[in-house]
Amino acid sequence: MTRIVRMRQRPVGAPEPDDFEFGEAAIGEPGPGEVVVKIDSISLDPYIRLRMAGRHLIGNLSPGDPIISEMVGTVIRSRAPALREGQVVAGFAPWSEQAVIPAAELRPIDFGDLPPSLAFGVLGMPGLTAYAGVTQLLGIGPQDVLVVSAAAGPVGATVGQLARSRGARVIGIAGGPDKCRWAVESAGFEACVDYRADDVDSAVRRIVPDGPTAYFDNVGGELLRTMLRVLRPYGRIALCGVVADYNDEMPAAGPLPLEVIGARATLKGLVVYDFEHLRDQMIAEHRRLIAAGRLAWREDVTIGLDGAPAAFGRLMRGENQGKAVVRLEAMG
Ligand code: NAP
Repeated sequence: MTRIVRMRQRPVGAPEPDDFEFGEAAIGEPGPGEVVVKIDSISLDPYIRLRMAGRHLIGNLSPGDPIISEMVGTVIRSRAPALREGQVVAGFAPWSEQAVIPAAELRPIDFGDLPPSLAFGVLGMPGLTAYAGVTQLLGIGPQDVLVVSAAAGPVGATVGQLARSRGARVIGIAGGPDKCRWAVESAGFEACVDYRADDVDSAVRRIVPDGPTAYFDNVGGELLRTMLRVLRPYGRIALCGVVADYNDEMPAAGPLPLEVIGARATLKGLVVYDFEHLRDQMIAEHRRLIAAGRLAWREDVTIGLDGAPAAFGRLMRGENQGKAVVRLEAMG
């Protein structure tokens, strides 16, 4: 048997522990090609909130369904020649202690001295999102001045540091002095605007009087409209997330066509699943930057499955300081 976390009801506003329920589930016998994985840690990501609302592109949840996340775990029984017992793997599983998973749906993880949980951050899906945005959608180079929102999170911080590595000037937007200090002091951003304390429009104009050339948008809503006003004409915008809206039933009004026309802006939507073919390339480049001390990250770690619902609520209220991870057991 394994403990398992299910969605009890669709959240209204930011998720509360009451929206989840803990139960038990039998762990079946692995069939041919399957393995039993002992889950070491699970990743909390904003898209799970969209699935809980029934509004994600794929994998939406109904009440009673297990919450599915990316996880990192250890193979404890194998009926698949490709995966031996003891192998550390990443893939999707319910929020639970153990799961039977087809080996074909798992990726072996070996990051050397780096923690396997980087498979949730700079060396995983957020890292790939950042890599695709900077290199494919925005094509950032030394001529650019890039602004990125949710700048202290795994996507935003990686975007900024990758853009810096390509010679661009980088300015972050984040909520609160701790996040902004980290973006500047640890991630090396030129500046970071605390949107809770400062007026973003005038702060960005002060730092970049002739306007940024590119904006990587994790937030949407009013912030996107503000950035359209301050962007240099013919600027580029990567639309990555609308985290300002995820807790709301009705999305906030977006920019009007006239605002986009006035900015002469190009807006491109980003879906990370389209860039899976770049994953190995991304991991190699990000590991090189980490080894050179040019790609920093931080994790917001909760210990124990019991804490997962509350930690997810903190993420969706913007209270996380770095990549939100639940480690099932304290490290020895
Ligand atoms: P993250 O930055 O760790 O967490 C989300 C951050 O969003 C929070 O720390 C907070 O930062 C901000 N936030 C949370 N709730 C908010 C609210 N109600 N209003 C305004 N801001 C709020 O998350 P992440 O994993 O790096 O993801 C960042 C964005 O990328 C999300 O929108 C996510 O959905 C998106 N994403 C998209 C793709 C894709 O394929 N398009 C792939 C991965 C991620 P501040 O306090 O700094 O505002």
